[in-house]
Amino acid sequence: MNSSRVPTRQMLQRVLALSGICGLLFLILPLIRLWQLQIVQHEELESRAIAQQLREAPTTAARGSIYDCKGRPLAVSASVDNVYLSPAEIDQYGENRELIADSLAELLALDREEVLKKSRMTGSWYVTVARKVEREQAEAVRRFIADNGIHGVHLETDTKRYYPNSSLACHVIGFVGMDNTGLEGIEARYDEALTGTAGRTRRATNAYGTELIYTAFEDYVPGEDGCDLVTTIDSAIQFYIEKQLRQAVADYDILNGAGAICMDVNTGAILAMASIDGYDLNNFLAVSPEAQAMVDAATTKEEAQRLLQQAQMRQWRNKALSDTYEPGSTFKIITLSMALEEGVVHKEDSFYCGGSVSVIGRGTPIRCWKDGGHGSQTLTQAVQHSCNAAFVNIGQRVGAETFYDYCEAFGFLNQREDPDESLTATTGIDLSGESGSIWWSHNVFCSEKNLSQLAAASFGQTFTITPLQLITAVSAAVNGGKLYQPYVVSRLIDGDGQVTYEREPRLVRQVISEETSQQVRTILEQVVGDPKDGTGHNAAVAGYRIGGKTGTSEKVSLEAQTGQKEYIVSFLGFAPADDPKIAILIFLDTPSNESGIYISGGQMAAPVVGRMMADILPYLGVQPSVLSDAGADVSVPDFTGETRQEAAEAVQNAKLRFRTLGEGETVTGQLPAPGSTIARDSEILLYFSRTPSTELETVPELTGMSYERARDLLSDYAIYISSLSPVTDASAQLIGSQSLAAGTRTGHGNIVSVTLQSADGEMLGRY
Ligand SMILES: [Zn+2]
Repeated sequence: MNSSRVPTRQMLQRVLALSGICGLLFLILPLIRLWQLQIVQHEELESRAIAQQLREAPTTAARGSIYDCKGRPLAVSASVDNVYLSPAEIDQYGENRELIADSLAELLALDREEVLKKSRMTGSWYVTVARKVEREQAEAVRRFIADNGIHGVHLETDTKRYYPNSSLACHVIGFVGMDNTGLEGIEARYDEALTGTAGRTRRATNAYGTELIYTAFEDYVPGEDGCDLVTTIDSAIQFYIEKQLRQAVADYDILNGAGAICMDVNTGAILAMASIDGYDLNNFLAVSPEAQAMVDAATTKEEAQRLLQQAQMRQWRNKALSDTYEPGSTFKIITLSMALEEGVVHKEDSFYCGGSVSVIGRGTPIRCWKDGGHGSQTLTQAVQHSCNAAFVNIGQRVGAETFYDYCEAFGFLNQREDPDESLTATTGIDLSGESGSIWWSHNVFCSEKNLSQLAAASFGQTFTITPLQLITAVSAAVNGGKLYQPYVVSRLIDGDGQVTYEREPRLVRQVISEETSQQVRTILEQVVGDPKDGTGHNAAVAGYRIGGKTGTSEKVSLEAQTGQKEYIVSFLGFAPADDPKIAILIFLDTPSNESGIYISGGQMAAPVVGRMMADILPYLGVQPSVLSDAGADVSVPDFTGETRQEAAEAVQNAKLRFRTLGEGETVTGQLPAPGSTIARDSEILLYFSRTPSTELETVPELTGMSYERARDLLSDYAIYISSLSPVTDASAQLIGSQSLAAGTRTGHGNIVSVTLQSADGEMLGRY
């Protein structure tokens, strides 16, 4: 075998690093150019351009406002003034340059010498001295002009962009440069619609240009104001998402930022999209105090400039769609979906994990994340455990060709003519800055001699995608199988209030059937709803049905910066699990080893999504299920010291039954212990002049048994049962899982926790 032709992880790392660098340059180069044009050289370029062309002054059209989906303003424009000199006229009328420079410097807080210098550029009719001056200052300048009969100082109307929520949704909204051109986010992508058409004011002139005496305005061509724009963003949801994400970054000492997306799973509309750290849109050039301190500490001006620019690029980056990463175990949702759809796995199947699994074409076996393995598992348990060995098996059952086709159908890659070419894809969201995935070429992935790509891809490794691609695909997996194109702008409204554009959700394709999607939902609900087996149980919220999947991926070593292993931990949740409305994906980029919390999606990301759901679901009007206490478990009182008569009454009041052991008049011991929560109508043991035995009993298999039957069976062994799911009908509800496995030896009085299935086989989570 020619080993040099077999792609290794190192090769992939190199490919990824290179593509990453190229991708970054693609994104950054135009930005740097823009940055130079709009920000650094702006004044200089402008005065040059004006000096060449002027005599035809544009009058700014009002830039359209941006609103959230409930009509709350996200970006608005206010009228301000620019102050400019006409040195030609100053010369013409022999006006006092010193007076003008002194006054403007004072009124507008300008450098007097600078104004003086500009006033001497007598070849020009138009030299800007102050931009976007607020109303009070502009009034003061107008008074100065009137009081002194000045001809060489003018004001012109301009607009200034205000962002009422400062940093909220900054990466989605974006910002405009000095000349009101959109530079980032929606402001950039929808710049044309927002801008409208500028009007023009022509002045009298002739071929001799500046030598002519300036007369008066000749004619005026009215412009057309820009469109207002309604987005899919919900400011309230955006606020909740940012709040919890920021808290997570602090709690877990996240070194490289974090991102989150909340999507309407039934339309592809983005309800919230966040990237930490954010920045104040009203002051987008300012960087964080930490970054500023580094800039200030730079030894050369060039170095300071470079550091500042770097920090700005970093804070403007929308990680949710610009970053690419190996998704890790969250991708198992996709593998599961295709395997169920193809009928190559079934709920009843059993998967064995001995801790590692051998793969054709791979020298060393692939290890499961759990040393020693997960043993024998059902399909649901394999997902709950996030077992890599089981998923390698599932991927192989699907087969490389079919796996590849589904990855295309879910939007992760676009196949090309050349089967040796590596692949990419984007979602085509209406925002700038979206990166593309990086996938193996068809021929490498589908090689029969080497199944290692397929094996690793089955659990989300050796390819990279964007968070946006993942949440889009998973939304399809749980919404009934429909892949929608994500979007952020839903409507454009022109100056007359007419809706000129309305976005309908765009169905890309049906990827899996409604039936398969329902199975996926049911299994994923048990990842969150099962406190024993579910790796995602930290995302549980009382009263709500939530499904989801954890992810922990090691960063490709060339991306890592600290020299230690670096991880991205993530969680993708959706709710309500039986009829999903929203999905939330969060990813935390590089938790430090200092936080003291085990670095994993289940420990770090799942609880954050749980807290987001707890905020957002009530806001969306999703009612928590009201738990009836008709069948609920009860708490065991303390009976010691009571007489037989007293104890009998107390047992009845506690909705329990009892057996007695020994002779005597007062209770000297009991099983189970006081304070235990057990099934209603359980038969407890009361001891008189005796102590409970210390014998061990073997726990029987309870799965599939009714709750009532299991309760009675266990009480024969003096073992008790407690349900983690709501109990509404103990005789009809069947047991789905048990905390102590069948065959376990346990002492008298111990309690087995179980989860219950509803009559139709679905899991009812308490959380
Ligand atoms: Zn395993």
